[in-house]
Amino acid sequence: MDLLANFVDNILFVLQRITWLSVIDLLLVTIIFFLVLRLIQDTQGIILIRGAIILIVVVALLSNLDILPAFSWMVRNTLPAMLIAIPVIFAPEIRRTLERLGRAGTLMYTSQTTSGTPQVIKSVVKACARLSERKHGALIVFQRFDRLDQYIESGVRLYAKVSPELLLQIFYPNTPLHDGAVIISNETILAAACVLPLSASGVLAESPERQMGLRHRAGLGISEVSDAIAIVVSEETGFISIVDNGRMIRRIDPNRLELILKALLHYPSDEKGVVARLRKLFGSVLSKGELNR
Ligand code: ATP
Ligand code: MG
Repeated sequence: MDLLANFVDNILFVLQRITWLSVIDLLLVTIIFFLVLRLIQDTQGIILIRGAIILIVVVALLSNLDILPAFSWMVRNTLPAMLIAIPVIFAPEIRRTLERLGRAGTLMYTSQTTSGTPQVIKSVVKACARLSERKHGALIVFQRFDRLDQYIESGVRLYAKVSPELLLQIFYPNTPLHDGAVIISNETILAAACVLPLSASGVLAESPERQMGLRHRAGLGISEVSDAIAIVVSEETGFISIVDNGRMIRRIDPNRLELILKALLHYPSDEKGVVARLRKLFGSVLSKGELNR
């Protein structure tokens, strides 16, 4: 009974001291936590963080028990080493998170990146439909805010206007440019035969049908390291897949491809500045539902 009274007293004490400022204070901390967790949501970082939190809680509980003096001594002495080890272990996640923050931070950008005018989308969809019919393998990447210079350099520069004929020619089997990815920015094919980073995530998929070859992993890989969108046409099955933000929708038909491309590529040109950035930061929930199917 005493314990309960004490508890109620404590709560009343806290409630009496709440002011508008402390509410704002709490709200600010909540929002920051929300944004940080959202930014790292799709990275390996979230798994590491979960592991770290569990470890910290267990260690803190155990080391506070007086019955385990030797354990407490060890925790006290290895803690400084852990503080150095954590940033080293987390380095790639920290870097990626900061990069994402940096991207989200440029709220007041002007809209030069209009990757994917309706004309370009039409040309790409038409090309993909034909490639799919003929079972010619293809990998097409749309550059958005993040520059892909590093990957463009690995290929052959073209600087050619996007057209279905040119895309079909590039991916025609056994021609010099058919291996690797085409990178498109605005209305221009910047380069072909580009080598993209490979994702490791699809390799672990359970069913053999879900396991990915190199082309699909390259498409997934570029969408994990940047905000680019990739379209993959499978040489084996002719299926078209689209990848955004580390998620792949497989087996889509050309009509659906067009709809998804319009949805994904429209915001830099139609909505400018803050709205587009906020939409990107908060709004990918919308596209997530679509992409998870
Ligand atoms: P498909 O269904 O078309 O067979 P897949 O996902 O099974 O696709 P693979 O059969 O391994 O993939 O396809 C190999 C082709 O993928 C290569 O010929 C090359 O054009 C392309 N490719 C492989 N690795 C990369 C890379 N790192 N960057 C860009 N393209 C790549
Ligand atoms: Mg294959």
